Amino acid sequence: MATLIIVGAQWGDEAKGKLVDVLGSQAQYVVRYSGGNNAGHTVIVGQETFKFHLLPAGILHPEVTAVLGGGMVVCPKSLLEELDRTRAARSELGRLAISPAAHVVFPYHRLLDQLEEEARGDDKIGTTSRGIGPAYTDKVQRTGIRMGEFVDPTVFPRRLEAVVQVKNRLLELFGGSPLSAKDLHDEYAAYAARLAPFVTDTDALLQDAIVAGERVMFEGAQGTFLDLDHGTYPYVTSSHPTAGGACLGTGVGPRAIDAAIGVCKAYTTRVGSGPFPTELHDETGETIRRQGHEYGTTTGRPRRCGWLDLHALRYSARVNSLSGLALTRLDVLSGLPRLKVATGYRLDGAELRGLPVLARDWERVEPVYDEVEGWEGDIRSAKALSDLPAAAQRYVRLVEEAAGTPIVVLSIGPDREETIVLRPDAFWG
Ligand code: GDP
Repeated sequence: MATLIIVGAQWGDEAKGKLVDVLGSQAQYVVRYSGGNNAGHTVIVGQETFKFHLLPAGILHPEVTAVLGGGMVVCPKSLLEELDRTRAARSELGRLAISPAAHVVFPYHRLLDQLEEEARGDDKIGTTSRGIGPAYTDKVQRTGIRMGEFVDPTVFPRRLEAVVQVKNRLLELFGGSPLSAKDLHDEYAAYAARLAPFVTDTDALLQDAIVAGERVMFEGAQGTFLDLDHGTYPYVTSSHPTAGGACLGTGVGPRAIDAAIGVCKAYTTRVGSGPFPTELHDETGETIRRQGHEYGTTTGRPRRCGWLDLHALRYSARVNSLSGLALTRLDVLSGLPRLKVATGYRLDGAELRGLPVLARDWERVEPVYDEVEGWEGDIRSAKALSDLPAAAQRYVRLVEEAAGTPIVVLSIGPDREETIVLRPDAFWG
């Protein structure tokens, strides 16, 4: 087994960072395949905390090649800042490779993101205002500027000039100020010169690595229910965080993927607007937010908190064809006397087999809950499943059975040590 996808099984922020860091240290290639700097991973190594938005967390390991795949949209300024910041903390980093097919995020994307979100009034999507949606819009509209063009000084000025003319008309339409193509070029040409050495044929790089049997880990950003096609549209991101996105966003075909691990919190959170059937608006939700420090890495926004949604998780296991689950943040639930888990949805009195498609139905579904006993005390020092209180063990088994997918890792605290690997052969076995 040499190729492994790590994917968020919920609405993002499932604490993928730790798993990605641990497994990435054992891989030769760590690959981001979708999204941009609207994602965020926190990795704690000893006393140091690293926050990644664009770089795959695997870059912390000098022997790893960190790849930004063609399915991504990359803000050059943010990428360089992140690279400089990480280099300042660590003298030795992994190699960086950027796909020439990735699209570039420019300031007009950010401005349009903000202006369009404002114009939505009460129907805000809850974007991170980083220009990600507008950059993907350009990609679909076939007017986007790709990395390969960006780092080519004979192409970039001409492409930018043409695009800025159109963007300025749009900016004015939304009440914004036009941008100077020259100023933009001068600033961004300097970024392009710095990034040029990293732009390389990543498809070929990964193809060769896979043929040679090297370990390739695909690092998912966001989560399944934020997927443009499989999420709670329109309250979704503009790309494909699901496992299928790893193929589209890197050029690696589906049969070359050996395993897909879904990362799932022991409860549910969501940032921004959109349907969230098991959301808690009461004291329990507040307790989970407080105990779990549930505030966004990218925006600092308080996360909406709720019970674990096993009905949604079942779908997630299917759409990502998960081979295993990593259940995280089990420690956060300690001290809650009773826990609820959603086992199904009802809509207009009838039980749903799958998930709703339209947001308006997502908003109307009523979760069917099972109630189980909680547990007391700090579980962070447990070294094996059997060290956990009996009720916590039952909770783990309940999730596994409902999802129909084995739990391969349990995370019971932020530290690398606070991890129980239940099935070591699920990864690179
Ligand atoms: P990601 O984008 O999916 O990696 O999620 P975030 O980075 O936004 O959230 C991860 C946060 O949870 C970081 O601060 C981690 O150190 C922390 N964390 C990871 N695993 C656990 C866990 O099992 N329990 C607790 N309490 N915190 C954890």
